[in-house]
Amino acid sequence: MKIWIFAEISRRRLSQVALELISCGRGLTADAQVTAVLLGHGLDGAIRDAAAAGAAQIIVADHPLLENYDDCRYEAILTNLVRKYNPDILLGGATAIGRALLPRCAVKLHTGLTADCTQLTIEPETGLLLQTRPAFGGNLFATIKTAEYRPQMATVRPQVMKITPFTMVKEPEIIRVTPSEDELRGSFDWLDFIPKAESDSDLRNAKVIVTAGYGCGGPDGVKLVRDFAAAVGATLAASRPVVDAGWLPYACQVGQTGTTVQPDIYVAIGISGAIQHWVGMGNAKKIIAVNKDPDCFMMQQADVAVQADLFSLLPAAISKLQK
Ligand SMILES: Cc1cc2nc3c(=O)[nH]c(=O)nc-3n(C[C@H](O)[C@H](O)[C@H](O)COP(=O)(O)OP(=O)(O)OC[C@H]3O[C@@H](n4cnc5c(N)ncnc54)[C@H](O)[C@@H]3O)c2cc1C
Repeated sequence: MKIWIFAEISRRRLSQVALELISCGRGLTADAQVTAVLLGHGLDGAIRDAAAAGAAQIIVADHPLLENYDDCRYEAILTNLVRKYNPDILLGGATAIGRALLPRCAVKLHTGLTADCTQLTIEPETGLLLQTRPAFGGNLFATIKTAEYRPQMATVRPQVMKITPFTMVKEPEIIRVTPSEDELRGSFDWLDFIPKAESDSDLRNAKVIVTAGYGCGGPDGVKLVRDFAAAVGATLAASRPVVDAGWLPYACQVGQTGTTVQPDIYVAIGISGAIQHWVGMGNAKKIIAVNKDPDCFMMQQADVAVQADLFSLLPAAISKLQK
């Protein structure tokens, strides 16, 4: 089965979501042949990344005019490659670029696309890609198939797929393509690139996250969680009601309508574990829950469940940690 990954580049290296998707592609089926498609400039490092992640084949279009993302150029090249090689499946990250590019390609290729998937599997009887994503405001999960058209296309949210270890036994095949003049006709002039300032609420890369839930009851409770996060060197996050109440900014929100995270340790304080929160953090390696209610979903799912009132537990924990 030919599984293609549009492997997004970030600062000339493969983006995290591309690594996740290559790993996901490898695990989809026993006969998976994963191809990473790299568009950009100065791609030697990214080619090495794709090979190390487990791509069996790497298609590279390396050109100065592809250094920065351009809807028209990228769409023309990717669409023509798909027409030439006919992959069964084409996946990309549900990032700003993936969300712009893949729907354009789906329209040109006259096929379906499921956006923002949180799970991908292969249906054993038919070999079709089962594309699962939250639907109806996150109240249920829909599984969608593209039965008639090819390729089967989906975007996948960063951090939802786990990277599995890979040992290279054979060097990948590398196919270099030279984009035509037509394909390189761009849609805008590039002026400048201004990187976003790193902030302490850069949740995606955080290894330890401490999250304040609505059980905090107000800014005083959130301050306790903030002090606890600082004492253990963790990044502070929030559930949606905490953000809606204005106790923490949106940049802190974890969940379906916030950021998806995959830290080593996720400490959920005063959080019930609604599905819309869970889809944003359920892949954390270890989950520690602090809650008064031992029966709530978060406490039931946690690796360590601490039944306690946060207003008693946290001051004691903070003073112990500060000694
Ligand atoms: C379309 C849609 C999108 C959504 N997107 C998101 C999203 O991105 N992220 C998100 O988080 N939610 C999202 N939600 C909201 C979600 O459905 C839940 O309402 C929300 O996650 C609940 O947040 P919570 O667990 O902090 O609050 P609650 O569900 O109110 O839970 C509070 C918890 O605190 C505990 N508690 C109370 N007092 C204490 C105390 N003193 N000490 C210890 N524990 C205490 C309670 O036992 C309870 O378990 C979305 C909803 C919809 C419909």
